[in-house]
Amino acid sequence: MVQRAELEGELRRLLEPEQFKDYCPNGLQVEGRDEIEKIVTGVTACRDLILAAREKGADAILVHHGYFWRNENPCLTGMKYERIRLLMESQINLFAYHLPLDAHPELGNNAQLAKRLGVQVEGGLEPRNERSVGNVGRLASPIKGQDFARIIEQRLKRKPLHIAGTDKLIRRVAWCTGGAQNYIDLALDAGVDAFITGEASEQTVHIAREAGIHFFAAGHHATERYGVQAIGNYLAEKFHIRHEYIDIPNPV
Ligand SMILES: [Zn+2]
Repeated sequence: MVQRAELEGELRRLLEPEQFKDYCPNGLQVEGRDEIEKIVTGVTACRDLILAAREKGADAILVHHGYFWRNENPCLTGMKYERIRLLMESQINLFAYHLPLDAHPELGNNAQLAKRLGVQVEGGLEPRNERSVGNVGRLASPIKGQDFARIIEQRLKRKPLHIAGTDKLIRRVAWCTGGAQNYIDLALDAGVDAFITGEASEQTVHIAREAGIHFFAAGHHATERYGVQAIGNYLAEKFHIRHEYIDIPNPV
């Protein structure tokens, strides 16, 4: 069992949210009970995750996509009211970490995705950003585009969209989890053979074809499952609390 304040302090030390300019508040977003014995992690703090966490007796939920995004209606009405009502009624704490969870060099979404896909990290994708969200790296050996698509499908349990803008073998890759299709320009600047992210836009397909790069949209949800799990396992070990990851399937 751990006090909420102690858990929050550890997350702040680990993820350094003050180092990021983000679109949402990072940290404790909704306060629940003081003592935490069980933590549930998930990608998004949607209604089904809260209901499942309540069912499992969670004292805290930790997610990548929380609430209070810049430009959203701040009023507690409709869907947002219902989610927060469920949390408060159940006295479940909600912790949310967005960019700090993408960027953590070992436990973050990008580091964990690299591990899963067998990519060796070489550096950051964002130039001049010490805490780059997204990375560039190298595969152990050159591989055909369709073979890499198969690896992604096997490891993430979801078939990626593969735009083969070239038939060159893939050696160096860039990646950024989630909705980072616009970072394809940074991938081109980095001179890699392939770019992997979660989502695609209409224009991404043309950029991949005309710039001659392999592009993979491997799923926003699918690419962002692994950071929260790594953090949850870390907290469970550190504080001797129980951790369970709950996947609320999402095809996007
Ligand atoms: Zn995301």
